[in-house]
Amino acid sequence: MAAVQLDRVGKTYVEGGVPSVHEVSLDIKEGEFCVFVGPSGCGKSTLLRMIAGLETISSGELRIGGRRVNELAPGERDVAMVFQSYALYPHLDVAENLGFGLRLARTPKADAQRRILEVAQMLQIEHQLHRKPRELSGGQRQRVAIGRALVRRPGVFLFDEPLSNLDAALRQQTRLEIARLHRSQGSASSIYVTHDQVEAMTLADRMVLLQPPLPGATEARASVAQSGAPLELYHRPRNLFVAGFLGSPRMNLLPAQVRERSAQGVRLALQDGTLLQLPVAAHGLSEGEAVTLGVRSEHLRPADSADPRLSGRLLTEVQWLEHLGDQSLAYLNGPGGSLVMRLPEEAAPPLIGSALPVAALLSQVHVFDARGEAVPPLQGEVVAC
Ligand code: ADP
Ligand code: MG
Repeated sequence: MAAVQLDRVGKTYVEGGVPSVHEVSLDIKEGEFCVFVGPSGCGKSTLLRMIAGLETISSGELRIGGRRVNELAPGERDVAMVFQSYALYPHLDVAENLGFGLRLARTPKADAQRRILEVAQMLQIEHQLHRKPRELSGGQRQRVAIGRALVRRPGVFLFDEPLSNLDAALRQQTRLEIARLHRSQGSASSIYVTHDQVEAMTLADRMVLLQPPLPGATEARASVAQSGAPLELYHRPRNLFVAGFLGSPRMNLLPAQVRERSAQGVRLALQDGTLLQLPVAAHGLSEGEAVTLGVRSEHLRPADSADPRLSGRLLTEVQWLEHLGDQSLAYLNGPGGSLVMRLPEEAAPPLIGSALPVAALLSQVHVFDARGEAVPPLQGEVVAC
């Protein structure tokens, strides 16, 4: 049975207004780590707060452990939430903060103390049990907030951007700890909200990418842009929004036009007249249709490369180079727009201002139709996922 089921759940804050969350349907399984990701304002917190019971649900049904919980108070839902702001009680010490929920639930004292100590040891804060939150660092406070959720042993953990207030090194360390803690909790599920795609990619069993309402739109569209395993979304984005959101640098997008359709795929013309034959299904496209070609920086190479999978030379000019240590990026002026290419490690960097023909790994080139929807690859095409 799914631990959390959302059936067309929606939220409209202002009556008659555009919904902040629209028609979200999801089955989150026992033990699953599900991450809601998306740009600021796309409704991630609203969705999580509806699951927590901190926000009313405007439409649809929410079930936790098989029972409808739309009308239940937060304390009756078998969930525990960790907030970005920690939300600790300043006048209580760490042990009292950790045990607060247990006291409300009238857990016997000895049992509560045992659970508090166990969780404090798990999070390595057992030496801070008698300190007040103001005497702790940001990282330690966030551990207390996580510990407060853990002691309650809920069926579902809810996290809203829990790492946003930490510095980069601590963020990475705490991210690993959250992943480890989730694994140690057996059948408990976690739902984690973040705007950070690295957190989403690394933590999620399943990633749910939410999209904000279109500016000025009068008709609502579903909030979920795509849901699935992180690498599935990365390699097979369903539309231009998903393609543009995931990946750093962002996927290169170039305007193109359909010239010819055949059983071998589609022939596209770029703005400078360059023709490319791509192995994608032709039936949904029409000749002359304006489409968008998408290719990630790691799937472009200087065109003199001997790799037989490469073809379709694009003529570009080198605008700028960035050497990041583990990789170097070339910013190029290409046909119809700018492109970013990850330089192969072995290659000598090109000169700024020089002309550089580049080639794309054709099996990894994406085509989006005039509506921005991804055109599927030809049947039998090998796709790395
Ligand atoms: P996210 O967490 O993805 O940044 P939110 O869920 O906070 O997004 O917000 C989604 C949308 O709902 C935004 O347009 C925001 O302005 C609106 N919103 C959030 N909370 C309220 C509220 N209490 N009253 C009215 N509108 C709200
Ligand atoms: Mg938020």
